[in-house]
Amino acid sequence: MFARGVGEETDIVTKEMYTFEDRDGSSLTLRPEATASVMRAYIEQRLDQRPGVQKLYYLGPMFRRERPQKGRYRQFFQIGAEAIGSESPSLDAEVIEMVVEFFRAIRLEGFQLLVNSVGCAKCRPAFIAKLREELAKAASSMCADCQRRAGTNPLRVLDCKVPEDQPIIEGLPSIVDHLCPECGAHFDAVRESLAERGIEFEVRTRLVRGLDYYMRTTFEVVHGALGAQNALVGGGRYDGLAESLGAKIHAPGIGFSIGEDRLVMSLEETRGGEFAARLQLFIVPLGAPASREAVGVARELRRRGVSVEIAPEGRLKRAMELANKLGAHYALILGEDEMASGRYTLKNMATGEQVGITRGELQERLGRG
Ligand code: AMP
Repeated sequence: MFARGVGEETDIVTKEMYTFEDRDGSSLTLRPEATASVMRAYIEQRLDQRPGVQKLYYLGPMFRRERPQKGRYRQFFQIGAEAIGSESPSLDAEVIEMVVEFFRAIRLEGFQLLVNSVGCAKCRPAFIAKLREELAKAASSMCADCQRRAGTNPLRVLDCKVPEDQPIIEGLPSIVDHLCPECGAHFDAVRESLAERGIEFEVRTRLVRGLDYYMRTTFEVVHGALGAQNALVGGGRYDGLAESLGAKIHAPGIGFSIGEDRLVMSLEETRGGEFAARLQLFIVPLGAPASREAVGVARELRRRGVSVEIAPEGRLKRAMELANKLGAHYALILGEDEMASGRYTLKNMATGEQVGITRGELQERLGRG
């Protein structure tokens, strides 16, 4: 499935897949990515018979035998989504908008969206032939990988990162100048739809991506904090993937995959590690009856989505020190007076302000309900 879907001549399939024989002699492969698998599920489950565009997602580990370095691991995690069942360019923009909105929601800053079109089965072969022709002249002075790719997968030469090769690559023909009228119109419409949605992007004509199933729109999100492995998201349209997997149905779609490890790195870099959810309430019960009451208070608040911890021991000073170290927003003191009066003491840890509060008021104040 991966050889057919991702492509026989891609780095992923030729160099990076973990394939081994199982105890019963069958061949197993650790998944290097999930789009081909999602498409297989779509085909097998006949999701094409369902109404509308199918919108699917996955999260989980992927495996590629790459050279490990900062941001590049042999086991890494991806968060991906696919929208299958339409060729409409506005679906491309909608899927890209979801990525951008997700980043906005988690307050990731400093990322950049790059888009391109790699054409279709009609216009790409002519472009590849042209590229091959140019590379026949230039490849001998390029890196070993480019020399090999010039013969096997010339599009990938455009992706080469070796500095000495860059002047040669700059002079190679550009795919967007060789799109057929349909692909050209599709790409124009994607860009218009992105602009209408107020999404900033840059066209990067060398963005071809490493997987053969891409057709028309490809995109990437890069982040400055990541260093050499700066791609945070890879995505694109794969209108011929179902056919490559041997299906009789046409299932055009577009999707993306976010590198979760790199996402965490980018957040740490831009927010100095301060992105973990903070503890909202630290309860300090003094004495056995108060400890029992604290358990019930904690349960009520946790059911409302509030994060709560209970101090492990009943000494006020030590407990308040711990509340500080844990970064709690509030501390709740259940001492003898509080138990007798039914009003707990709620302390705002940042300002030091203290108020008396009943169990019911506490839920209203902290519970998101
Ligand atoms: P791809 O499936 O190659 O399009 O990659 C999509 C995203 O997954 C990339 O933009 C990276 O963020 C992430 N990714 C790919 N390979 C690795 C790896 N070896 N280690 C960590 N993250 C990776």
